[in-house]
Amino acid sequence: MPDVLVAGAGPTGLLAAYELERAGLDVLVLERDRCPSPQSKALALQPRSIEVLADRGLLDAIEPHVHARLPAGHFSGIPIDYTDLPSPFPYQLGVEQAHVAAAIEAQLRTPVQRAAAVDAVAQNADGVTVTAAGREHRAGWLVAADGGHSAVRSLLGAAFPGTSARISLVVADLTLAAKPLGLADDWQLPSAGSGFLLPLSDGRYRAVVAGAEQQEIDRAAPVTAGEVQRALTSAHGPGIEVGELLWASRFGDAARQLVRYRHGRVLFAGDAAHIHLPVGGQGLNLGLQDAVNLGWKLAAQVRGHAPAGLLDSYHAERHPVAARVLVSTRAQGLLGIPDPDVATVRAIVDGLLAVPEARRAMAAELSGVGISYPGTCGRAVDVPVAPDGRGVLVGAPLPERWSDRVEHRPGPAPQLVRPDGYVVWTGGPGLEAALHRWFGNV
Ligand SMILES: Cc1cc2nc3c(=O)[nH]c(=O)nc-3n(C[C@H](O)[C@H](O)[C@H](O)COP(=O)(O)OP(=O)(O)OC[C@H]3O[C@@H](n4cnc5c(N)ncnc54)[C@H](O)[C@@H]3O)c2cc1C
Repeated sequence: MPDVLVAGAGPTGLLAAYELERAGLDVLVLERDRCPSPQSKALALQPRSIEVLADRGLLDAIEPHVHARLPAGHFSGIPIDYTDLPSPFPYQLGVEQAHVAAAIEAQLRTPVQRAAAVDAVAQNADGVTVTAAGREHRAGWLVAADGGHSAVRSLLGAAFPGTSARISLVVADLTLAAKPLGLADDWQLPSAGSGFLLPLSDGRYRAVVAGAEQQEIDRAAPVTAGEVQRALTSAHGPGIEVGELLWASRFGDAARQLVRYRHGRVLFAGDAAHIHLPVGGQGLNLGLQDAVNLGWKLAAQVRGHAPAGLLDSYHAERHPVAARVLVSTRAQGLLGIPDPDVATVRAIVDGLLAVPEARRAMAAELSGVGISYPGTCGRAVDVPVAPDGRGVLVGAPLPERWSDRVEHRPGPAPQLVRPDGYVVWTGGPGLEAALHRWFGNV
């Protein structure tokens, strides 16, 4: 019997499984789809996510698939310079989500079980029973990372309040039979408005369109090549011709978040816990950060040495971060509306974001490097995580009794670092208290 079941082999579920395995647990990932999806919703990794992947040695497998390094993020198309970010990676990586997921999946000890859609969940004081493809699986805990339409969320009746979609957009990967003059062949940040056309590899292009026609069409209706052609002609003129429509889907600006990320022995992460308009490249990154925040806490809980409240600090730390992203993406969605009054607000916001302090604060927020949690002093960029999921104590003697939970390293600057890379002590009194608070009693 595995220690933990994970529903969903998207990037969030895979990284959660990787973190749990790294800490020595047995994990089984149950995935609905028969094969890994070659399609990618997300095309960008923010700096904090790059840091996390690099720290775990996962970036090397992603690098060959990188289309671009963009030295900026954007707020509703307003460029936000990243070049002075306090990070070894002061840029977004343009890379398709499928490559990120594949790089993580390749490192899992237990292969993902596919064609295994979770369709029933029951829990009691000892564990969780999950049914998938007619088979029952039992474990102590379940991580629900089964995406924006989470079946686990529905099965548990978990409250998911927020706002419904008001605008409808189409994402499509396609080839072009004819290219308009002046269509850029390199990656650019999206400009104002919600549409763009971006070159991928192998002659594919990614189009996002949100014209008047999309607002009229039923959300369940399939996207046709004709619909995409009309939208692209309207944006780029008659010189553009769609060749083959490879994949297309509709999405919207619904913004919802679980009231509670923990329901007994079930913990929600990624899109299963929060959905919003995918503007500014935030969703995938939120999910990856959920996974690394949750992994070590759940591992400590399973091992029986989690201090009181550690597992619940997952909700306490991560819920506010996603709540802020919902606010930010709703604001960005509004600023993208083609309306003269909105344009006046946009001009003001544009001006404000040119103020260096405001631009730096926005860069820290969008990139994820500014995220910190109560009781921590931000992330430790110069202290690599321990490969076995322990914390790290640098530059101070470690009492022997902690050594199964904390790795000791020499170094000039004393610091105690949680397994997810956040600093909780920086010298002086309080080391023993910090060890107890984050790593439990011994
Ligand atoms: C058009 C578009 C562009 C985007 N661009 C960006 C971007 O540039 N940057 C960014 O950060 N984010 C972006 N996002 C958001 C990002 O793609 C998502 O936030 C991200 O995929 C969330 O990952 P996840 O693992 O939580 O969920 P998902 O990627 O949705 O994975 C969920 C997995 O669960 C599986 N599953 C579903 N139901 C079940 C079940 N019952 N049992 C078992 N498995 C199940 C699914 O098959 C899937 O594999 C974009 C989204 C869209 C729609």
